[in-house]
Amino acid sequence: MHELWIARRILTILDQQKACFDHQRLKSVLVEIGELIAIEPSSLLFSFDVIKKNSIAESATLFITLVLGQAWCDHCQKKSRMPNYFATCPICQQMLSKIIQGESIHLKNVEVYSCVEFAAVNVKK
Ligand SMILES: [Zn+2]
Repeated sequence: MHELWIARRILTILDQQKACFDHQRLKSVLVEIGELIAIEPSSLLFSFDVIKKNSIAESATLFITLVLGQAWCDHCQKKSRMPNYFATCPICQQMLSKIIQGESIHLKNVEVYSCVEFAAVNVKK
């Protein structure tokens, strides 16, 4: 259900920005998702495909880039990989104190079809 909420949020943002697309059909949407958000990419792709019908993103394919979790260890004064919120420093086993990356979601890019491309897609269907 977490993934369905994220898919809805992506569509809401795209809908709010539809004036930027100048009535062109969306081809792809790229989102970066932090590993610490703990989403299942296949569930997000499925959710997006289900709810995009009759929306501004009906013709769009969703692409997901996973951003690995990283945190700072105060004890070692080093960056460390943080695959989840319970991870400890691999060197000193202390709790990692400051998350550097991996707990956010960013809508990175939206690609639109050119008129010629979209006509070709319609012919194929
Ligand atoms: Zn450490």
